[in-house]
Amino acid sequence: MHELGVILSVVETVENFARENNLTRIEMLVLEIGELSSIIPKYVESCYPAAVEGTLLENTKLTIEVIPGNGLCAECGKVFNLKENNLVCPYCQSRRYEMLSGREFMIKEITAY
Ligand SMILES: [Zn+2]
Repeated sequence: MHELGVILSVVETVENFARENNLTRIEMLVLEIGELSSIIPKYVESCYPAAVEGTLLENTKLTIEVIPGNGLCAECGKVFNLKENNLVCPYCQSRRYEMLSGREFMIKEITAY
C-alpha cells in the first residue's frame, strides 16, 4: 500500500502552500484520482487521519473526486469506459484504444483562510 506515502507528500505540499500564503486554517482538500491510477481512494481515506495528525491539515475535510477512465476506440471512434468494459470497446469489441483519462492524481482544490 503506497497511499500513505502519496498522502504524506500531498500534506507536505499543502502545508508549504499554506505557509507561503500565510494561511492558518485549511477547511477542505479536494483530490482528483483517476479510476485507472494505482491509487485507491478508499485506502487514501483510511490513511488520511493518521497522515494529517499534528499537521496544519489535522481538521481539514478530505473530498475525493474519482475521474472515470475513458478510452477512445481506434476502430469505431467511440468513447467508452475502460474499467466497466474490461478494456474492450463495447460497440465493436476492439481492444485498440487511446486512453483519454483515468490516470490522474492531483490536488484539485484547497479551501483555506
Ligand atoms: Zn469500437
